[in-house]
Amino acid sequence: MRILLLGKNGQVGWALQRSLAPLGEVIALDRHGLRPRDDEEEGPRDDQEASLRAQRSNLCGDLSNLDGLTHTVASVRPDVIVNAAAYTAVDKAESEADACRTINTDAVAVLARAASPMGALLVHYSTDYVFNGSGDTPWLETDTTGPLNVYGQSKLDGENAIAFSGCTSLVFRTSWVYGLHGGNFAKTMLRFAQEREQLKVINDQCGSPTSAELIAQVTAQAIRVTQGNVALRGLYHLAAAGETTWYGYAQRLIDQARVQYPDAPWKVQSIEPVPTSAFPTAAQRPHNSRLNTRKLQAAFGLTLPRWEEGVDGFAALAMSKTSAP
Ligand code: NDP
Repeated sequence: MRILLLGKNGQVGWALQRSLAPLGEVIALDRHGLRPRDDEEEGPRDDQEASLRAQRSNLCGDLSNLDGLTHTVASVRPDVIVNAAAYTAVDKAESEADACRTINTDAVAVLARAASPMGALLVHYSTDYVFNGSGDTPWLETDTTGPLNVYGQSKLDGENAIAFSGCTSLVFRTSWVYGLHGGNFAKTMLRFAQEREQLKVINDQCGSPTSAELIAQVTAQAIRVTQGNVALRGLYHLAAAGETTWYGYAQRLIDQARVQYPDAPWKVQSIEPVPTSAFPTAAQRPHNSRLNTRKLQAAFGLTLPRWEEGVDGFAALAMSKTSAP
């Protein structure tokens, strides 16, 4: 199986590089394309290898280059395209709507159109931000959408472009992603806990912190199963089990990190729950980000772990990278 992975340096993209490797040949690109592999430092052995290398060096992983993207898919002829690249700066998107739309909608439409005629499976990620955040029930895949911000609208339009193209696809809506590679809320909280005595954290937005590793493992399993049964293609909600608020998440993370690394230079004395209004932002965010994941678990024979399990593991790993043992 040949897999084209876009956005290899994002939180999810990074984890995917490892989880997809056992499935076949992975051609992983970031916005700068493909850097030479370690084993390509020496010159090519023959004409065939030289031509292969020339072809690979022309690959474009920049989602704002729509022609380059079309050319890349045609040239790689992948069995599977996994798109982990996205414009994810939610507040900045309010003033950069065109740039956000190009990457989250137009480029996704290009990938879907390119995948369709060659029968490639397109794997893509979307977000809880496609919903308006009302109520307190976990959202189903079939629930009415209503994004509150430019980013959410651009992601919803990306989903719709995939559906419109008719290509074989797996689209995973996920939430509150964290991973060791890249910046995120969890890393910021661990840093703040060592810099500040008092933290204020939002307590009226509910969802489930989901690790990039979990998303990557589920993606690999779903690709495996879908290759043998294309009837499973479609839209799925993918988030860790259970629910919390950003406040509950921060508290759990910091408590765990303190237990496991008592000698780290902790400063934090108190964590105060505050409403969303305490931190005005350019983009409005949904209060209810809960995702119902029953469809995914049934389709792929999975049991998703609780969010606390992932956060506890992350606390230990993140601290081990910054603290002396
Ligand atoms: P990240 O922000 O960690 O990674 C996004 C990646 O996209 C980055 O590596 C970035 O590259 C890349 N990128 C941005 N613009 C371009 C471009 N023009 N060309 C090529 N690459 C580009 O995101 P996540 O890994 O967290 O998100 C993965 C998916 O999950 C996305 O679809 C996102 O919308 C979705 N999602 C994320 C959530 C979250 O909390 N993070 C929540 C819900 C859904 P560079 O590093 O060079 O900027």
